[in-house]
Amino acid sequence: MATYTNPSEIARETLRTLAARKIAPTPDNYTRVYQEIGGQPVTASGASKVLAEVAQRLAQESPKSAPIGQAMKQAIAASDWARCEAELQKYLFPSGGESKTAMAWPLLIRDLFRQLETPHKGITLTRKKDGLETVLNKFAGDPDVLFEKLQGLFRSWASAPTTASPGELVPATAPEQVHGASPPPAVAAIAPGAKIYAEMVTQLRELLAQTLESSIGAQPEMASEIQALAQQARGANDYDQTLKLAKQLRHFWIRLELHGSDKAKIQEGLIRLLRLLVENVGELASDDKWLHGQIATLQEIIARPIDKRSIADAERNLRSAIIKQGFLKQSLIDAKTTLKNLMTTFIDHLGELTESTGEYHTKIAGYSKKVGSADNIAELSNILNDIMHDTRIVQERAQRSHEELVNTRKQAHDAEERVRQLEHDLEEVSEKMHEDQLTGALNRRGMDEAMDREIQRADRQKTPISLALLDIDNFKKLNDTLGHQAGDQALIHLTTVIKDALRPTDAVARYGGEEFIIIMPDTSLEEGMATVTRLQRELTKKFFLHHNERLLITFSAGVALRTGEEDKEELIARADKAMYYAKQAGKNRVVAAE
Ligand code: GH3
Ligand code: MG
Ligand code: MG
Repeated sequence: MATYTNPSEIARETLRTLAARKIAPTPDNYTRVYQEIGGQPVTASGASKVLAEVAQRLAQESPKSAPIGQAMKQAIAASDWARCEAELQKYLFPSGGESKTAMAWPLLIRDLFRQLETPHKGITLTRKKDGLETVLNKFAGDPDVLFEKLQGLFRSWASAPTTASPGELVPATAPEQVHGASPPPAVAAIAPGAKIYAEMVTQLRELLAQTLESSIGAQPEMASEIQALAQQARGANDYDQTLKLAKQLRHFWIRLELHGSDKAKIQEGLIRLLRLLVENVGELASDDKWLHGQIATLQEIIARPIDKRSIADAERNLRSAIIKQGFLKQSLIDAKTTLKNLMTTFIDHLGELTESTGEYHTKIAGYSKKVGSADNIAELSNILNDIMHDTRIVQERAQRSHEELVNTRKQAHDAEERVRQLEHDLEEVSEKMHEDQLTGALNRRGMDEAMDREIQRADRQKTPISLALLDIDNFKKLNDTLGHQAGDQALIHLTTVIKDALRPTDAVARYGGEEFIIIMPDTSLEEGMATVTRLQRELTKKFFLHHNERLLITFSAGVALRTGEEDKEELIARADKAMYYAKQAGKNRVVAAE
């Protein structure tokens, strides 16, 4: 501690100490502290003298301190120590006695405003306003009490949980930043709210990061950028970082959108290319039936709006056909090679035979010469033996060749038969491409062909033809509750029940996901309606079993009788409209088309 020797320094330091220790500057107190600082005793009159010196100094120091100095002088003269103290207080704490609250008022009002705007659980705005009004009315007379009461009101609001909606930034009055005259109790009262708030923000940041990361699978090309953004989201601890993140996220979204539209354009381009390819390959391979089947399937897919499911179905369809056809084609090539080999053998044998007979004839000519020149029986007998020997050899060879020829011809015949059979199988596989892989009902292509055929026949024979369009009721719900596989089984079940119940001349086709068409040749509208109603009844008898649970599948249907020259599209459209009415009327019913 510094030591003071100059009395006016001691006096100044004494005043400072009194103020710091919040001790009233009465002559007694002043004397005690003066002695403490100066280290020497001061008499009471000495104290008054020092105070008078101080008053004089103040009176001269500045225009601001002058009135205080004057007032102090008067108080000392009148020994009015209370007034003297009051004047000194004025000098030492220029904002007066209410200084602390006066400084805190603007902050408190700002805090109150923020809390008024923040939505709190269980405290409506009206309730807040009422509370405010009551406090203002009741304590308006005493600013200090009013300050305290308003502060209490603020604390009670700030400690209530907020109801900020997602994405909305809560006004940044973190309760720790509350301004007020006595912060410690305020912090203790609002800490739970702050904790929930902080936890919620952390959770939201983590959720955002995870959401971003989960998109990497769909956008592998942007993986590093997405990862960086996710890291940034996790670390965005303050308002500035959050703003920066928001800006970068907006850029990222724009890039993502551009990226998506690029992908869509590439897809469109590929489909156009495929269409072109399919059309041209179709023309090039005009005599190859099995290839035609596959091309028709491809054409069917790309003609409709493409979705994941139809592509997967078609791929499965084509793959199985290609495998079967590949196998048959190999067998066909093998069979043809065998046939060719047999023909070669046959020709070789023929050649051998002519060779050996040619040799025989030369020999016979030689023998006839020998016979001509032979002059004894023994010689002739020898020649005859040789002739007999050679003749036997030729005969044996001829016999062998004959057998071989017969055998070869039989093998050639068998091979030819096998080639025909294989070619037939190959065509049949191609025919199978008329069927829907899942249910075995006709597919769209099969249905088109059957309809064309039956319409032509009906026109020729002047017979009626009816068509029904069925749509399973609430099928999406069945899929959603039991799974897609159970849905598939239900489709198979329905097809089986329908096929069993129909006449052999009727045909069932899968028109779409859970929509079926029944073509009924030589059938009037009444008969058609009766047939479809019978199908409804059949389904109530033959339940669909799922894990041993009996489930009733129902459908809504429209039945239309072909009129005049109506083409198949018009006929289907009328049946579809009737089916729609059946749905509208409450489902599980059959409606005749107009
Ligand atoms: P509504 O009674 O009005 O016809 O309702 P719905 O749910 O039957 O009709 P919606 O057209 O809304 O849904 C048809 C569902 O059929 C949606 C699709 O997932 C499902 N689906 C289509 N094809 C198949 C398939 O091959 N297998 C399975 N399991 N579900 C399919
Ligand atoms: Mg449908
Ligand atoms: Mg349906």
